[in-house]
Formats: sequence, structure tokens, C-alpha cells
Amino acid sequence: AKDQGGNRPCLYNEQMYRALTRRTQLEEEVRDALNYDEFSFALQPQIEILSGRLVGFEALLRWIHPKKGFVPPDEFIPLLEHTESMLRIGYWGIRRAFEILQRLREIGLVDCKIAVNLSAEQMLDSRLAPYLSELLEEFGPYAQWIEFELTERTLVMDIDHCLRLMHSLRELGFSFSIDDFGTGYSSLSYLKKMPVEVIKIDRSFVAGMLDNHADYQIVSSTIAMVHNLGMRVVAEGVENKEQLRCLNELDCEIGQGYHISRPIMESDLFQILSSKVQD
Ligand code: C2E
Ligand code: CA
Ligand code: CA
Ligand code: CA
Repeated sequence: AKDQGGNRPCLYNEQMYRALTRRTQLEEEVRDALNYDEFSFALQPQIEILSGRLVGFEALLRWIHPKKGFVPPDEFIPLLEHTESMLRIGYWGIRRAFEILQRLREIGLVDCKIAVNLSAEQMLDSRLAPYLSELLEEFGPYAQWIEFELTERTLVMDIDHCLRLMHSLRELGFSFSIDDFGTGYSSLSYLKKMPVEVIKIDRSFVAGMLDNHADYQIVSSTIAMVHNLGMRVVAEGVENKEQLRCLNELDCEIGQGYHISRPIMESDLFQILSSKVQD
């Protein structure tokens, strides 16, 4: 290939080359997006199933690109794996979660949690703990209102490191949940070691639980096991009232999904909430 001359990459590498260019381009766009405020959160309510009471929101990243419009997180987050951009988005998101908590407080919602998705990059970054300490000094004692969602995929990468970090962040007052539970590679043995309060049952099981015997068994036995281990359960992807009723019968504490509410853009949420408070 070398004697073809020039600096044109050889055919064999063309795909790799293109993937790399695409990633570099995406990273550049992310840098701009952060500078020009193209990111925001959509907040999806979580309710206590028994009472219907609002207990918190999951913060879901939204990117409104000036040309492409809405870019779903599933389309760019996987491409940013292991990049500095992913870290920068992550730190932006944590700060934004603190700002949202502050605004919720200002309008009188003082007992709502924010659940923030943490990427593997962030869990492995040594700046995470000091950054969180700084935010606590800047904003005040909000740690107990922030719950970090970790996937099994992240946890198994470096389990000892994750355990140490989780313990030290818990000392600051933060809490943890395991996201997409049941879809990862991990074994159940780590569950008893993990300092987590909440398990989020993946929406694929909830989606099937009324028609599919296996899904129903997975949901019901996961709930029972999680309770026996002293943790609480969030069911994701609750799309209808039959699922909600069934989850209630199984003693699932918290529900999240389109039937309860779609994710609501930050700006809309505060408009809705402040008009409610005025009523
Ligand atoms: P996830 O953490 O499992 O988030 C739940 C996803 O399910 C969200 O998709 C949400 O909009 C969607 N969803 C909620 N209720 C329902 C329902 O009833 N039915 C169905 N079919 N879907 C429902 P979204 O917002 O597109 O996010 C996709 C994924 O992107 C998230 O999955 C998460 O893995 C990742 N993500 C989103 N925001 C962040 C972030 O700030 N940081 C990181 N690291 N990842 C994020
Ligand atoms: Ca999540
Ligand atoms: Ca999830
Ligand atoms: Ca998911």
C-alpha cells in the first residue's frame, strides 16, 4: 500500500479513517454545543406508585442541533465513548442538575430528587469526587437529593474502583441506583456488595410483563429479591395503567414512564410548575 504514495489512506483503512473523521467531527460539534447552550435536560417524573406522589425526576440529555434539530442521546452518546467530550457533557450535566435542584427549591418543591445518568468515563475520572465537593460548597447541601444512575456495564469495568468511589460519594450524601437492571453482563453476586438504594428494572421487562410469562416472573422475582436485600425498585417504561396496577400489586415502590409522564423539557417544566404554584 505504501508505494501508492501520497498521504491518502489505503483502502483497507478507509472505513476506520471515515469513522475517525466522523468522531472528530462529532467531538467538535459537541464542543460547540456546550459553548452555545445546545444541550439541555428533559426531566421525566418519577412517582410513588401507591400514593401517586411526585418523588423526583430523571434528567435525560437533549441536544437541539442548529441544523440537524433534535439529536437523540442514543445516537451520539455511544459514539463519544472514551472521549473527553463525554466527560465534558457529564460535568455540564452534573452542574445543571444542581441548578435544577436550586430552581425547584425556589418554587417550593423541596423534596424532589434528581436522578443523573453517570457514564463510565465519569466513574473512571479522578476529577469526579473533587468536582462534586466543589458543587456542594457552591450550591449547598443538595447531595441527598441527587441519585446517580449506573449501568451494570459501567460497574463491571472496574468493580473495586467503583465500590471505593461509591462509598466515598455516599459519605458526601449522594446515592446510587442501578439502571437497566437485568440487561447487563454482571452476576447477582455483586449486588450484595453494592452500596445502592435503588434498582431500576429495565423497561423491556415491564413492556412484556402482562403478556409474557417470563417477563412477569423476572419482574416479580426481581422486586422480591431487591426488597429482601433492603433496596427499593423503580419500574421504567410504564406505558399503561394495567402495568401500573400490576406493579403496585407486586409492591414496586416507584414508577416512571410515558403513562405517568413523558420527559418534559426543563423550560416547559418550570413554566408548568410555577403556574401550578400560583394557582
Ligand atoms: P435510560 O437511562 O434507560 O433512560 C430511559 C429512556 O427511556 C429515555 O430515553 C426515556 O425518554 C425513555 N422512556 C421513558 N419512559 C418511556 C416509556 O414509557 N416507554 C419507552 N419506550 N421509553 C421511555 P432517552 O431520553 O432517549 O435516553 C436514552 C438513553 O441515553 C438513556 O437510557 C441513557 O442511557 C442515555 N442518556 C440520556 N441522558 C443521559 C445523560 O445525561 N448522561 C448519560 N451518560 N447518558 C444519558
Ligand atoms: Ca437512566
Ligand atoms: Ca434505564
Ligand atoms: Ca436504557
